[in-house]
Amino acid sequence: MYDYIIVGGGSAGCVLAHRLTEDESVDVLLLESGTPEEDRDMVKDPSRIWDLLGSDLDWSFETEPQSNMNERSIDWPRGKALGGSSVINGMAYVRGHPYDYDNWADQGNDGWAYDEMRRYFKKSETLTADGDEEYHGTDGPLTVSRGSDPTDLDELFVDAGEAAGLDRNMDFNGAQQEGVGYYHSTIDDGHRHSAAAAFIKPILDRPNLTVETAAHVTKLSFSGDTATGVVYKQGWSRHEASVADGGEVVVSAGAIQTPQLLMLSGIGPADHLEDHGIDVEVDLPGVGRNLQDHLRVPVAFETTEPVPQPAGASEKGTRYDRVSVGAFARSDPELPAPDVQFGIAPGLSPDHTESGYSVMALPLRPTSRGSVRLRSDDPWDHPGIDPAYLSTEKDVDDFVTAIRLAREIGRSDALSGLRDVEVAPGPDVESDEEIAEYARNNAVSGYHPVCTAKMGTDDLAVVDDDLRVHGRNNLRVIDASVMPKITSGNTNAPTIAIAEKGADLLKAAQ
Ligand SMILES: Cc1cc2nc3c(=O)[nH]c(=O)nc-3n(C[C@H](O)[C@H](O)[C@H](O)COP(=O)(O)OP(=O)(O)OC[C@H]3O[C@@H](n4cnc5c(N)ncnc54)[C@H](O)[C@@H]3O)c2cc1C
Repeated sequence: MYDYIIVGGGSAGCVLAHRLTEDESVDVLLLESGTPEEDRDMVKDPSRIWDLLGSDLDWSFETEPQSNMNERSIDWPRGKALGGSSVINGMAYVRGHPYDYDNWADQGNDGWAYDEMRRYFKKSETLTADGDEEYHGTDGPLTVSRGSDPTDLDELFVDAGEAAGLDRNMDFNGAQQEGVGYYHSTIDDGHRHSAAAAFIKPILDRPNLTVETAAHVTKLSFSGDTATGVVYKQGWSRHEASVADGGEVVVSAGAIQTPQLLMLSGIGPADHLEDHGIDVEVDLPGVGRNLQDHLRVPVAFETTEPVPQPAGASEKGTRYDRVSVGAFARSDPELPAPDVQFGIAPGLSPDHTESGYSVMALPLRPTSRGSVRLRSDDPWDHPGIDPAYLSTEKDVDDFVTAIRLAREIGRSDALSGLRDVEVAPGPDVESDEEIAEYARNNAVSGYHPVCTAKMGTDDLAVVDDDLRVHGRNNLRVIDASVMPKITSGNTNAPTIAIAEKGADLLKAAQ
């Protein structure tokens, strides 16, 4: 018997296990479907991101063919290891904008405004780069750094952003997000600092923590309206684990597999569950709905000379590795917060072998809403993922605007000494419709799926603002699924902050 069972040892699950076992009287079981293979070189070496995608540490999901993207299926990597997606991610540490969290609170989610969330960001963080202590933590488990020292080339990219009208900003996570500058990264002394490396490795000897890997939870168990434990498979063996009276089951399996597991356990849209012969425990239409993700596409330029690669870059040289220069911009000064993110890096897209540089455009506020649905009642089947990308006119318009802005940065005089020709979309692609078609044919996931078990009180809400699943006792969802709306940036730091707050909510209920 455990006080808490956590399903999924990803970014959120690792934080929860760390915080809950701070209390020696509490027993925690952390169940992770993937391996503990976090010590491998390709995981630790920040320049080897591309080797991780499609490896055995990646669930390698893909979307349904996207009707607004010329029927393309889009790759959706997700981490399958202790540490979850933080084991294979790009390591950019971006909190988003205060506007995001204030917006969550405005939707009736008490306690989630940025002023309250800021302390959870600070709690997890040790910032090793310069930063204002009002915004940054100095003694948290997760190292946040510059990753590597900026190169002369990085400086040129920042100059190009400034020439396009952006302010130089050396801290996107400080007083102001807007501007061009260097990303913070979850890199500790030259090595990836995944959630497992930061939150679990240092505490593996706590006697009140049990970590099981290669342990795939197939179902949640209930007694009446109360969650009592889980069923999981490890190798060929079937196991059951239970929580003690008043204990809680926490689902932290990520934005795809959290809704999948809830549905397999009878919590979801009743008609959909019945179609798969699953007994309905709670008819919750929002499970798997409200799916949101960022899309991104490069504007790429060939160069006259090989672009110098940053120290430690992979031998694949012409592909961009970790992006260190970025920018956040408002496409319209009337907007309350930036609505476009840029990553500027040496290298063309993976399809090109020539030397060059790219400006990646990523609209931050998609209005398209998709879904995760069961394909079958088999817990090993990949669910059907339909992000419904570009299904609103606004999203198409925003992408065209973002690509035009990326082009402005890439064509800046600051880069004229390097630049030869624009190869993508290419100088002939000029009209809005041509640019939109380029996006439909080339955009890929920003790897930020969220919101599939959203917090709130409306018809699509799955959890309340204490992250308790509506209609069940002693069951919470704590991971990227609970965001009501996607944040303005990358989603790892926000997920870690959600878990920091989630741990406090669990402790407060003891
Ligand atoms: C390739 C890639 C690049 C990215 N780059 C960045 C970046 O640079 N910066 C950034 O901020 N964000 C980035 N992200 C996104 C970020 O990493 C995620 O938003 C974040 O890790 C999500 O955390 P989570 O806890 O919700 O889910 P995850 O970290 O995905 O964890 C879910 C865990 O649950 C496990 N699991 C699933 N089902 C079961 C089951 N039934 N039983 C047991 N275990 C189960 C999974 O194996 C996984 O370990 C990237 C993501 C990817 C995939």
